[in-house]
Amino acid sequence: MKGWNEFEIGSVLFPLNEDGMKAQEKMPQERSYTENSSRSASVAHWRVQKPVHNVEHCINCFFCWVYCPDASILAKDEKMSGVDYVHCKGCGVCVSVCPTNPKSLLMFDEVEEEKDALKKWPQKETK
Ligand code: SF4
Ligand code: SF4
Repeated sequence: MKGWNEFEIGSVLFPLNEDGMKAQEKMPQERSYTENSSRSASVAHWRVQKPVHNVEHCINCFFCWVYCPDASILAKDEKMSGVDYVHCKGCGVCVSVCPTNPKSLLMFDEVEEEKDALKKWPQKETK
């Protein structure tokens, strides 16, 4: 796998393939992370609202994945698979860039259960 400084400026890096996932799993053993590193520390307590993903409307465009400033959008088998709530700080950028109608990511109160959030999903807006 290339190092971060070997990619051309403007490259979009798609979700890790199988080899990349193996490399990532090795990272904790190969590097020493302190308890307060960005990898090991949780920022969940920063949030008052959290993004909830609705797979029913998602077109897997990966805009949310590209724009999330904390790499907290999870992807599996080339599909958006959810949110890493350990590292998501609840900024809402992913929601603002989601292009579907209705949106496939919406912000809800931190305490809202995902199943309840999905029941409150808005209908398609007509223009
Ligand atoms: S709310 Fe912000 S940090 Fe959390 S997944 Fe969306 S863009 Fe990333
Ligand atoms: S931006 Fe919206 S439609 Fe695109 S992958 Fe993310 S949740 Fe799905």
